[in-house]
Amino acid sequence: MKIKQTEFVISAVRPNQYPEDGLPEIALAGRSNVGKSSLINKMMLRKNLARTSSQPGKTQQLNYYRVNEEIYLVDFPGYGYAKVSKTQREQFGVMIETYLRDREQLVLQLLVIDIRHEPSKDDVLMYDWLQHYEIPTCIVATKADKIPRSKWDKHLKMIRQTLGADKSVPIVLFSSETGLGRDQLWETILEAIDDAGMSAAQRNAEAEEAAETDIEAAQQTNNATEQANDAVQEDTAK
Ligand code: GDP
Repeated sequence: MKIKQTEFVISAVRPNQYPEDGLPEIALAGRSNVGKSSLINKMMLRKNLARTSSQPGKTQQLNYYRVNEEIYLVDFPGYGYAKVSKTQREQFGVMIETYLRDREQLVLQLLVIDIRHEPSKDDVLMYDWLQHYEIPTCIVATKADKIPRSKWDKHLKMIRQTLGADKSVPIVLFSSETGLGRDQLWETILEAIDDAGMSAAQRNAEAEEAAETDIEAAQQTNNATEQANDAVQEDTAK
């Protein structure tokens, strides 16, 4: 994926603030401090567009980043921060469930997990929501540089097991430090967009088809009008 342009678009607190241009969305969920912002920056080749270590427990919002005017990366608030109030937890729940249930543009959810640790209860809950709403999901095991290569397989197995994710769910091994997994993750994202029929080419073809149908309909209306006019002229001539 060639990055031509990246942009922070909005911190949305309500669905009516989500972008309305219909571009496909890739959302990221994970515990606070798991490395989501670093991952977003690495994917976009930007040093600091996504705020790293943003204060946990702040207003619950979805941060929208646009890539090449083609794709949105949507950063969920990090969860699992101990000092978050009950009200904030509830707000998070409502916001995320509504998004997962209603957002048609969502083509792939990345569940970001620290490769060193067993997924938390919140991770499992998030994974269960994704299954429930039948959202295509990719697990991203990040901070891979923090454990020796020889342990990667064992940790990936442990992550799969704790989440209850079968082999059909892809896992991408990632490191924002080294760039490991970056190409593979872009590939997975582009495939998901294709599968959803939402690539730029697919959307253009659809728009062209719709325009052609409009032209045909307009031509039919014209023909009908001409015939009606002819009929009137014939009547007048009689
Ligand atoms: P967020 O709260 O999920 O957005 O997490 P951040 O992206 O702010 O990362 C939290 C901390 O982990 C920061 O100190 C990052 O530098 C560090 N970090 C994130 N990803 C990686 C990684 O892949 N490798 C290493 N070694 N550190 C990372």
